[in-house]
Amino acid sequence: MTKHRLLAIGLGLGILAGSAFAQTKQPDWSGIEEETMQHFQALLRFDTSDPPGHEAPAAEYLKQVLEREGIAVETLAMDARRPNVVARIKGSGRKRPLLIMAHTDVVNVDPKKWRFPPFSATRDGGYVYARGAVDDKDNLAACLMVMLLLKRLNLPLDRDVIFLAESGEEGSVEYGIAYMVEKHFPKIEAEYALAEGGSVTRKGGKTLFASVQTTEKIPRPLRLVARGPAGHGSVPLRTNAIVHLSQAVAKVAAWQTPLRMNDTTRTYFERLATLSSPEDAARYNGILNPEKAAAIQEYFAEHEPRHYSMLRTSVSPNMIQGGYRINVIPSEVEARLDVRAFPGEDMDRLIDEMQRVINDPAVEIVPREGSRRPPAPPSAIDNEAFRVLEATVRKHYGVVTLPTMSTGATDMSYLRDKGIQCYGIGPLIDFEDGQLGFGAHSDQERILESALHQFVRFHWDAVVALAAAR
Ligand SMILES: [Zn+2]
Repeated sequence: MTKHRLLAIGLGLGILAGSAFAQTKQPDWSGIEEETMQHFQALLRFDTSDPPGHEAPAAEYLKQVLEREGIAVETLAMDARRPNVVARIKGSGRKRPLLIMAHTDVVNVDPKKWRFPPFSATRDGGYVYARGAVDDKDNLAACLMVMLLLKRLNLPLDRDVIFLAESGEEGSVEYGIAYMVEKHFPKIEAEYALAEGGSVTRKGGKTLFASVQTTEKIPRPLRLVARGPAGHGSVPLRTNAIVHLSQAVAKVAAWQTPLRMNDTTRTYFERLATLSSPEDAARYNGILNPEKAAAIQEYFAEHEPRHYSMLRTSVSPNMIQGGYRINVIPSEVEARLDVRAFPGEDMDRLIDEMQRVINDPAVEIVPREGSRRPPAPPSAIDNEAFRVLEATVRKHYGVVTLPTMSTGATDMSYLRDKGIQCYGIGPLIDFEDGQLGFGAHSDQERILESALHQFVRFHWDAVVALAAAR
């Protein structure tokens, strides 16, 4: 496609997105906030801690709410205790479907750490407290409300809107996204998908930017196995496997893997620079400058480890095992490396390089066998979907959108691998709230009520701009 044509489409979309906001009949938001809160609290009160998951009651709730509204819905399950819920509102078929999805399971809790019981969904001081409040029952409630409103307003659509409430996102994908993609892909096949993985960041009371996740790193764990002769601890050996493993771990940890960038991360740092202090901006703009790169990398490794990881395939030694009694030199010991591959990384080459870095024939690198997350390509940041999200962010939050590569994995990798362009979105979160221990997977979890309602309106506008008939 030529630049001119791209520009023409961009301008056209801008106008269309603008008119879509203006013309579409808007729901009566005041009444909807109460209904949103009711569904949100109901969903938070199901204990869907994974493991064991047990998402069935939450799935049944969703099914009933959708059916009551007259929306076609079905549950699909590999295990009856862990169903996935799929619903569809039909469009004219002029465009391919839009999938909106969220997961029903949550990570485990330590109830002692909670001021309010973790499945009470207590409202206090403008917040709702519960496990799942920002991961991912906020998205779940928003997707549900969008479906109900689409049906109620009977909005003519150019494409089907598909709702997916998936189980097992927190570590048991075989029940959720992997099962859906392998066994029921036609039921969720879409051009675009909106899911978790983004947010709007506010710091010191000022809304700074929105993150829309467009790609993610791929977990590729490795084991380091060191071997040597066993022996009596009273006679130290140069071949001691623990010594060899320790040295290998130290070398691997100090190794700076090659710097990598893609469209998402390049744009992320460019746009972040425009929002940053002059010193920070100089670093974000200087990443590829050969004279400054080394010092900038060093700074990131020390002070901005997430940015350091976003620029490469990362290696973190997180488990080490070896030895069973004080007077025995063990013959085999191992360490586990959490390796997160940059999209497109050639892992065979990386392992060869790691072997050279370790430079010790006593240490073997062993890749994990069995099921692996697909190495999905990044989603586009110059298409209709991303531009609609940018425009909708600007309308609701008045800030710039940063396309983001998450260092952690999400279920979107399975969909991107099948050709769906996926975008991770999320509500406004105060930066300080994470530090206070109220973020996703933290000791406690909470969301601002106002942020939830704003997110529902944002979600609605994004879906309408992408799917409403023109
Ligand atoms: Zn999640």
